[in-house]
Amino acid sequence: MTSEFRITVRENLAKAEVRANFYRAMDGLMTRRLDQFPDKVELERLRTQSMAIRANALSKLPELLEQLETNLTRNGIQVHWAETTDQANQIVLGIMQQHNAQSIIKGKSMVSEEMGLNHFLEALGIEALESDLGEFIIQLDHEAPSHIIMPAIHKNRVQIAKLFHEKFPDIPYTEDVDELTQLARRILRDKFYAAPVGLSGVNFMVAETGTLCLVENEGNGRMSTTAPPVHIAVTGIEKVVESLSDVPPLLSILTRSATGQPITTYVNMISSPRKPGEKDGPEEVHLVLLDNGRSNIYSDPELLATLRCIRCGACINHCPVYVRIGGHSYGTVYPGPIGSILEPQKAGLDVHGELTQASTLCGACSEVCPVRIPIPSILNRLRYDGVRKDAANTHTVGSGKRRTLSEAATWKTWAWAATHPALYHTGSKLATRFKGMLPTNLGAWTSVRTAPKLAESTLHERLKALGVDHE
Ligand code: SF4
Repeated sequence: MTSEFRITVRENLAKAEVRANFYRAMDGLMTRRLDQFPDKVELERLRTQSMAIRANALSKLPELLEQLETNLTRNGIQVHWAETTDQANQIVLGIMQQHNAQSIIKGKSMVSEEMGLNHFLEALGIEALESDLGEFIIQLDHEAPSHIIMPAIHKNRVQIAKLFHEKFPDIPYTEDVDELTQLARRILRDKFYAAPVGLSGVNFMVAETGTLCLVENEGNGRMSTTAPPVHIAVTGIEKVVESLSDVPPLLSILTRSATGQPITTYVNMISSPRKPGEKDGPEEVHLVLLDNGRSNIYSDPELLATLRCIRCGACINHCPVYVRIGGHSYGTVYPGPIGSILEPQKAGLDVHGELTQASTLCGACSEVCPVRIPIPSILNRLRYDGVRKDAANTHTVGSGKRRTLSEAATWKTWAWAATHPALYHTGSKLATRFKGMLPTNLGAWTSVRTAPKLAESTLHERLKALGVDHE
């Protein structure tokens, strides 16, 4: 049976316009990143430093989370823990109910996508409005993000212009980017002031000071965290760093790796609700810390590196598979290389294990990753976990579930033949002699390739003819 993933891939490969949009966008992002790092030695130094900062934070994760909670609470920020996305949604709902809030305005947050928060709230009749321009566009079109930092990257200017005209027919049609941005800004501005609750993601949480750091380009993050009287931040438990001095190197490499900007337009450091005498800021700040499988990833010394991710999207921008199939093909919140290692670990290899195969293992992702996550090694490890016989020996969810009897039997036969020289020689000799009778249809492998042709004689025979002692 063809899997959902393969069906979507096939459909998206046929969308020439979307593919062209991805090519254009990814080309631009790769060039801009390259321009930001003219000094390769400095880049590698910064990558090593950033990796060390993240690895250090993860090595002390339980202690740092405790310290973070203590300091946030001291600063007046209310901390909530959620093991599952359901719990996280209920926590957000509970806060909204305390304030009789029937709407929420959102800054960009991939964790809220992970929670399915918009659908959850909408099912209860609560309006959840995205204020990041890219998120606003895809929300208008009832789509999911196709990239973690540029959610509407699969659309071009004309498609967006048509969408705006369809949704706001009273406003004259325009393809001018500035006018389209102004239009979104006008619609959102009133919403910021009217919304009783604002929601945002978090880039880094500083344990030492109890500070939430949030970077963004449009100012909508600042609006949704300051204009409404209540601010809820949602994030994964792994986003903690030890001290304030850890933030500048990470910020510097994050933005340059992500969009090729030297720094983002806005860097928000949220350390408390509004204090007496302050002119703006929310009266209440809440932080929801989501686990959703992260503790399980944390328990494996090899897979733990996944949690170093700072969500820059560079691995996605440089992935030759992503650029062809597009973000929606993955069917997950996080697409591309980071999605292919994170999603199967969160949901299980039985659910998203196929994504670990959606890679050529070319290594472009790990070459650009600012925190040096060894994505190809983790992909290989997950591929192994998917088919391993001793599934009980690993914590990875869904281990062994991808093991099929026919595949296991094929490899077992191969291993047996390869470790019995007489049998191997006879088998390979027979295969070369009767190569014309061998099947040329090898399933999925030959659906896009020509079946390999066997040589006239085996390697051993050739070496023997040359007088080489090959044993
Ligand atoms: S895996 Fe590395 S490159 Fe990819 S999003 Fe995370 S930090 Fe960025």
